[in-house]
Amino acid sequence: MWEVDGALGEGGGQVLRSALAAAAATGTPVRIRRIRAGRRRPGLRPQHLTVVRALAALTAAEVEGDRLGSRELLFRPRTRPTSGEHRFDVATARRGGSAGAATLVLQTLHLPLVRAAGPSRLVVRGGTHVPQAPPFEHLAAVYAPVVSTLGAGLFPHLQRHGFLPAGGGEIHARITPAATIRPLQAEGPTPVLRIVIRAALAGLPVTPASRAVAQLRERLGDLAPQVLVEVRRVPADSPGGYLYVAVERMRLPAGFVALFGPDGEPEALVADLAAAVRAHLASGAVADGHLADQLILPLAFADGPSRLTTERASGHLLTQARLVEALGLARVRVDDSVRPVRVEVMPLASGGEDGGSRAPRD
Ligand code: ATP
Repeated sequence: MWEVDGALGEGGGQVLRSALAAAAATGTPVRIRRIRAGRRRPGLRPQHLTVVRALAALTAAEVEGDRLGSRELLFRPRTRPTSGEHRFDVATARRGGSAGAATLVLQTLHLPLVRAAGPSRLVVRGGTHVPQAPPFEHLAAVYAPVVSTLGAGLFPHLQRHGFLPAGGGEIHARITPAATIRPLQAEGPTPVLRIVIRAALAGLPVTPASRAVAQLRERLGDLAPQVLVEVRRVPADSPGGYLYVAVERMRLPAGFVALFGPDGEPEALVADLAAAVRAHLASGAVADGHLADQLILPLAFADGPSRLTTERASGHLLTQARLVEALGLARVRVDDSVRPVRVEVMPLASGGEDGGSRAPRD
């Protein structure tokens, strides 16, 4: 039985999600205490509760403490994750609905379903572009291609956008099983092939977003041989919008988002967004700040050591590193004394041929 302190590092939802994903993937029972102790409203929120219930359904788990606000959870998986067709909706976790991040739910289910016996098709409903979570584009064009190249196939498709407060977005995804996950060796970035600057809007005026996109193009035009722009109106239950900058390289892609609501001015976001893209490229890192923390868990299951560089040692990155070490999955070295920051993930047990079929254990 793993004992996890939810106050570890940042003390946020990531500790809970990663511990549960690892428990479901390996068939290990886990008790998590002090859930999200580092957050203003601690305990399980709708997004986290959706993850708990989804993983419980996939592994026929015995669960205690699965209710909104709960600060302690016991999760005891009883089967290997079940492949096939699954549908989960964050809105069902709270009366009145929720825009909790569907992207984070999907990302959490990815690793366990990679270790299932067959392929899966998932529909996850919730927020697709909400604060403090990967926007759909980052999941689909940054995280997914990188892990898919390593063998842990994830192929998401956006069916409908979901903004605050209504959510109601929908992501469809295919996940393919893998006997092993290959390690990642990515220390130097490849040249930028293309930058795509995108704005999407639901129920908001197009002109300010178009102006913001034009300004971004001006500020970033020198960074790539080709810069494409796209401004789209999209349907959604709540009005909302975002600017997204995709940096396309052979390895690894990077992505940067700025969200706005009905009261926001897209042009006010341009300077910070452009600065984030320029800072990433100037750092010489291969992985953007968010991708780095998201890769730690899958790389802890790889069949060899991985190395990558990233622009900073974020709280999320250090927390993930401490968590996989605490679970005995991998040793992680984050060298913050050099620029870009170097990250090494050394798995302690191979994912192995029979890794996914390991029997549940106590
Ligand atoms: P909280 O406990 O903060 O309410 P949470 O459940 O949303 O949390 P966090 O622990 O904050 O979880 O983890 C958020 C995850 O979302 C991290 O993996 C982080 O890298 C990712 N993320 C946040 N913002 C972005 C972004 N702009 N682009 C890509 N990924 C992002």
